[in-house]
This record gives sequence, C-alpha cells and structure tokens, in this order.
Amino acid sequence: MQSSSIRDLFLDYFRSKEHLVMPSFSLIPQNDPTLLLIGAGMAPLKPFFTGEKKPPHPRVATCQKCVRTPDIERVGHTGRHATFFEMLGNFSFGDYFKEAAIEWAWDLVLNGYRLPLERLWVSIYEEDEEAFKIWNEKIGVPTDRIKRLGKKDNFWEIGLGPCGPCSEIYYDLGEAAGCGSPDCAVGCDCDRYLEIWNLVFTQYSREASGELVELKQKNIDTGAGLERVAMALQGVHSLYDTDQVKPLYNHFARLAAADRGDQQVPLRIVTEHSRGTTFLIADGVIPSNEGRGYVLRRLLRRAVRYGRLLGIEGDFMTEAVCLVVEQMGSAYPELKERHDYIRQVVRLEEQKFQETLVQGMEILDGFLEKMKKQGDQILPGDLAFKLYDTYGFPLDLTAEILQENNLSVDRNGFDCNLKAQQERARAAVRSNSGQEAAERYKAAENLHTDFTGYETLEQSAELIMILAGSQLKTELHAGEEAELILNSTPFYAEAGGQIGDTGVIEAESGSFKVSNTIFSPTGQIVHQGKVSTGFMTVGDSVTARVDDTRRRGICRSHTSTHLLHRALRHQLGDHINQAGSLVASDRLRFDFNHFAALTTEDLLAVENEVNRMVLDNVSVQATVTTLEAAKEAGATALFTDIYEAEAVRMVSAGGYTRELCGGTHVAATGEIGLFKIVSEEGIGSGLRRIEAVVGFGAYRQTLKNEELIKTCARALNTAESRLEEKLNEYLAEHKQLIRLNQELKQKMAVYEVKSLLAAAEEVSGIKLISASVSADSIDHLLMVVDELKNHLSSMALVLGAVNNGKVFLVSAVTPDLVKRGLRADQLVREAAKKVGGGGGGKPELAQAGGTDPAALPEALVAVADQVKAQLR
Ligand code: ATP
Ligand code: MG
Repeated sequence: MQSSSIRDLFLDYFRSKEHLVMPSFSLIPQNDPTLLLIGAGMAPLKPFFTGEKKPPHPRVATCQKCVRTPDIERVGHTGRHATFFEMLGNFSFGDYFKEAAIEWAWDLVLNGYRLPLERLWVSIYEEDEEAFKIWNEKIGVPTDRIKRLGKKDNFWEIGLGPCGPCSEIYYDLGEAAGCGSPDCAVGCDCDRYLEIWNLVFTQYSREASGELVELKQKNIDTGAGLERVAMALQGVHSLYDTDQVKPLYNHFARLAAADRGDQQVPLRIVTEHSRGTTFLIADGVIPSNEGRGYVLRRLLRRAVRYGRLLGIEGDFMTEAVCLVVEQMGSAYPELKERHDYIRQVVRLEEQKFQETLVQGMEILDGFLEKMKKQGDQILPGDLAFKLYDTYGFPLDLTAEILQENNLSVDRNGFDCNLKAQQERARAAVRSNSGQEAAERYKAAENLHTDFTGYETLEQSAELIMILAGSQLKTELHAGEEAELILNSTPFYAEAGGQIGDTGVIEAESGSFKVSNTIFSPTGQIVHQGKVSTGFMTVGDSVTARVDDTRRRGICRSHTSTHLLHRALRHQLGDHINQAGSLVASDRLRFDFNHFAALTTEDLLAVENEVNRMVLDNVSVQATVTTLEAAKEAGATALFTDIYEAEAVRMVSAGGYTRELCGGTHVAATGEIGLFKIVSEEGIGSGLRRIEAVVGFGAYRQTLKNEELIKTCARALNTAESRLEEKLNEYLAEHKQLIRLNQELKQKMAVYEVKSLLAAAEEVSGIKLISASVSADSIDHLLMVVDELKNHLSSMALVLGAVNNGKVFLVSAVTPDLVKRGLRADQLVREAAKKVGGGGGGKPELAQAGGTDPAALPEALVAVADQVKAQLR
C-alpha cells in the first residue's frame, strides 16, 4: 500500500468514527513559546487538551508534519528514525477513552491495513491493568503478546499537569531486520520490533505534591508514524525503502561517487535532511543561528557536509528540493506553492556554506591532527567558536565531526566566546549602562506621570521633579541643563523604535526647551533639555507643548512602518518579521529578516504597495483590548516584546494591518503623503535594512533629485527632457575623442621619430639616441620607442619627457648591444638619479620617473658618458 493510501485510509477510518479531520498544522507552533517545532500530532492541539480552548469538535484526526531534532543522531543509523516525519493521530478531548481507542487502533491495523496478526505485538504500562484487560479479554490478544513496559517507555508525562499511561502497537519486521541478539524482543533498540503506533491515555494530573489525581476530562492522544506503517505494509526494513522516500535515496546514490566504501549512513542522512529542510522552509523558517532557524541551518549544513563526503558536487540540496516537492507536493500543497522560494533559500544557504566548508574542514583537520598528537581529548571553546564565526560551522556539526574521531568539544567554552561576542556587540550600541541609569533615577522611582500624548500635544501640568545629573534640585536657571518630570505630559518618551518628542515646557517665570524625552528605568517620563529663559521651580504650574510639526512627521513614519511591514510580508512572504526599527520625523529605518537582497523589482513593488495604501486614505485606529482578542484579530506582535496579557494597544490601518503598538500614528494613511525608499542593504546574516522617507522628507528628497537633474542639465546645456539623450551623446563623443587622441599620439610618434633619427649620435661605435620628446606618459614614450625600433635594428636610447611637472624616462637597448654589455636599466637609473627619481626594468627595456624637469637636459647629455663607461 502506498503512503498516500495509508494516509487516506487512516483519516477516512476516523472520519467514519465521527472525527473531525483537520489539515496538518504548520511546523511552527502558533502561540506556544515553550515549543521550538511541532514534534507530535498532539502538540498543536495542546490548548484543547488543557481546556484552555474549546475544540472545534470533541474528536479530531490529523496527519501532522513533525520535526524531532532530538532524533538527529539516530538518523541513518536506524532505519526508523527521521527528524522529519508524518504522524497520523486520533484525539479525544474528554470524549471516548481507552476502550474505543484500543479497539479502533486494532481494527484499523488488522482489518484496514490488513497487517498480519502473527507479526503484531502490543505493549502496555506495567501497572495499567485496565489496558491489559481490554487487550487480553476484549480484543483477545494472548498474554505472551502483551509486553509490560516501565515508566520510562510507557508513561507519558512532562512536568506537572496531565499525564498517563501509554500502550503501543509493534510490528515484527522479521529476524533479518534485527540485531540478532538472543534477547531481542519488543522494546529492543534495534529495527526488528517496530513501534508503529502509540496510544496515550491522559487520565491523571501530576500535582505539585507528587500525587497522581484522576482527571475529570480524560483525553486520548495517539500517534502512528506514517513512514513506519509504510515500512510494515511495504515489507521493507527502513523508511528509506518506502515509496515516498526511496526515489530521493536513489537520486543521491546516483549522484554519489562510487568506491567510497559504505555509503548507506551518509546517503540516508542527506536523504532525510533534504525532506526536513524543504518542509521547514515551506513553513517560513529561514536559516539563522538560533531557535528554529538554527535547526534548519544545522540540517542543511549537515547534509551539505555529508554530501561532500559522498563526493557529491554542486548545489545538490537545491536540486533535491524539486524531488521532495514532487513526492510530497500533492499531500502538502504549500510545497508546490512555495517551490521557487524554497529553492532560493536553500541555494543561498548551501552556497554560503559551500564557500567556507572546504576551508573550515582544513582548519578543523588541523585542529584534529594537533589534538591527536598532543593527546588532547577536548577541542577548546575558542577554536570551535572560530569555526562557527568564520566558517559557519554550527557547533553541533563541529561536535559531531569530533565525535567521529572519539573527541569532544568544550561547549561551555564555546558559549563563553559566543556570549563575549554578543556582549561586545551590545556594549557597542549601549551608551550608558542600565545600572548607572537606575542609580540616577532612584529618587523618581515612585513618581507617576499620566501620558496624554495620544490625544493632545499640549497639556497643563505640575513640575514635580528636577534632576541635574543625579542631583535633585528645587530650582533651575537660564542656561542650566536638567531633566524634568511632570505629573502629566503629552511628550512621547522614546520607545519601540519611535524617537522621543521635543518641544517646550513653559512656566510663568521661564521656559524649558525639551531636546529629548525618555523613559527612566522605572517607567517615568523624563524630559531632557535646558532652561532657555527665566527660571523653573518644583511645584510650578506649567504648560507642556510638543513640537507638533516634528511629531506629525514622526506619526507619518510610524504608520508608514506598519504599512511597510505589511507590504514586505505581502511581496516576500510571511517569514518577514521586524527585527528593529527607527521611527524618526519623516524618516524611518526598518530592519527585518530575509535571506537575500531585494531586487529592484521587489523594492518597487513594496514601495508601490505602500503608496497605494497611503492613497487609499484608510483611517488608522488604536484600540485597547486583550492580548487574546488581538491575536484572534490576527494582530502582528514583535517576537521580542513582552506584552502584559491584560491590556494591549492594537493599531490598525483599515483592513491592511493590525499591530500591537504603543506608538503615535496619523489619523488616516493619506496624511503620510508620499512614501519613498531611499536604500536597502544587508546588515548581518539574514538581516536586511530599508530606509525610507515620508511626508516632507519624501518631498525634500524629490526636490533634491530635481535640483540634481537641473544642475546636470545646466552643465550639459540642455533641456531636462533631453538630459539622457544628451548625456549619451557626450559619452559617445567622449569615447571617440579618446580614440582620436590615441591615433594622434601615434602619428606624433612617427613625426617625432624622424627628428630623433636625425639626432642620433655615434658613441663608442654604436648608435645612441638621447633626447627629450613631447609625450604625456610612459605609455606614450613607449609608443615612440616602438616606432624607433622599426627604423634601427641596433641602437641604445634614452628618451625623456615632461608632463605636469613630472619627468618620464624610458630606455631601450637592442639585444646585440646588450650582449656587448650595455644595459637599459642601468642607463635609466643613472638618468633618473639626476632628475630626482628612480626606476628600473630589464636590460632591453626600462623606465623611470623623476620630479626635477629642469635637470632633464643635463641628464640626457650625460647618457653618452654612461654608454662609454658601460662599453669599456
Ligand atoms: P521511538 O521509541 O521509536 O523513538 P517514540 O516512543 O519516540 O518512538 P512517540 O513519541 O510515541 O514515539 O511517537 C508516536 C509515533 O511516531 C511512534 O509510534 C512512531 O510510529 C512515530 N515516530 C516517533 N519518532 C519517530 C521518528 N524519529 N521518525 C519516524 N517516526 C517516528
Ligand atoms: Mg523517540
């Protein structure tokens, strides 16, 4: 039976038992920060099990994509463990329980899949008499086929909360699949007794006291590995021989160079990882150094290395994506939809690693050799870090290669190096330390400021504290710098990327110019600035007035940032997440994760989409709601932000975007005016940065461009509309002039030669030409030399020229004279000395430069004596 039929049969069976069949959830857990990746069918259904959410139906069945990183070391070494696999499962949320679960599983295995009874075994938790009775009495499985296993294998439990016993169904693949040990039986770690289905009976809750309490709502959670069922049904000993995986394995086997010994394990690893890689990227994971991105990077780079060991060349992982999509695309349409994208991500990561893999391996081999020589067992952390930092070796890959040599790596040392690097990076951006700030604002710790700046830009308030450095003051005079705290303020303190407001705080006796607004570590709004006139006293009634032009510019930027985020996701994919941002007045910077530079078309499309949303002039609204409700509405929240669950502020722009955000925004998108991207660049691995201008910023940008065009047009003496045409004309003309100039020089050389030939003198029986000519470079001089050689078969010459205050010298001696002891390099060197320079070359041809044009005639006259001296 084919894998697709195995999947269909399972889901159809449980549909007939009144289950709601749900499609596979994403590999990325939704709203579950405790989980890195989905590793079981029940994982995405957790809220239904805990009662946190009401399930859509009391019975559910799925075929769930799973990634289990903990099994990575077993991949290839067993035939049954993959990091990526599909798990078939049926679930009951307080509905049916143990009896039905067992009965149906057995019925499906025996009568649906028609697995032969004599090969089937079951296991139960040793203390679960209820399960034993059902298997033995109700189903009729003989006692000797029911294996009792201990807590480790057959009691499912994680920390406190719901837990319970398990019961598993095993399929005997036959002696040939096993380890051959006389003790080999159900529970043995070899491939023979294959666990195909695990039924978990969640009937207890583990209390903090350690006690097990019977649950009111008992649940069923089962999981059957699709690849394992296929192994049993297709009569093969490894998942690599099943219909969905075999074509991939064969493909790699064909690519691998022959005569490399036992290739099975590396071939299996490459095969397996190509599946996980494809599926992870399809679900929006991109390679990085942490979290899910690290899992992906590790799989992909590990596969690349094994591919190399197999002698496979080129971007073979990129190519393999096609095969995975071919095999799995009908069951998982997202693979087909994102095919090109997946290939792009794989290609970039693969190429990046290929570039440094060979070098890194050489370095690591060097380490290995040294360790062996010195009898060291552990690779120091800083060396492992170097491999990671410079050559992109994930720590686990280094560890694995070491392990293949029975060595290990100092993981703590690695972590220290990594931390130190991160600390350095952080220190570079942090100006004053948190500690220092905490000290400084200690006196303000219990003060409270009402923030009114969402509604108004002007506010009457009381001045409640003056801080000058860490000093408390009661009075402040003109020219003095300080920080003021009010009981109420419309000034927005720098947060969430949005810069702090500026403006004035006015009292009757004086006024204070606010140059920035920040939060103190304990959350007070602090106005930084200087008294501009008069004086201020604690207790003063003041008017706080935000610079509204600037603030309105900030609002334009902030709303634009949300629109940009949305457009990026729309154009590039849902993997886009904000990694940082700066919201300034009419100017913004947006950092996000993406694997490649944006093309000109991408950027245009993004800019276009943002401007469309701007011109749509949809209203922008902020509502305070619960986190739950915001999530339900599909609001985007930043990974790094911690939201207080009670009240969150959700900012939406029409139907376009919803983000949890504390910033200030325009009332309608039309206020933004114009959105213009000015740059896009990479700022680190997998991180991009876009800078844009909006509103008046965009207007100014347009003016600047216009001015530039005007200046150019003026310089070219043409109309703006003809600028390009004119420029092209000039360029063509320029090219032609260069060619013409070259030709002229050539002609001049011919002319020059005539007079030079006339000036040739006889010295010690040879022909010598030593003269100054008009030329503008060494190349030009060489042209003359070439021309002279056409006329004289035996000669020595030194030519000099002056251009822009510099002297150029070239000397040439024909081979016959070189034989007689004359050397061009010596001649030119002597002459150069006299003009304040130096040079050299070969005996036949040499060149030099100098800085004293006045000395050139004398230097040339002296050549004759040189020749005489050399020929003596
Ligand atoms: P094993 O002991 O064989 O690793 P497990 O006890 O970890 O299995 P469960 O967590 O009970 O397995 O998962 C339910 C089912 O999912 C298993 O019965 C098996 O069919 C399948 N399965 C589990 N891990 C893998 C894996 N790494 N590769 C393929 N299938 C798996
Ligand atoms: Mg396991």
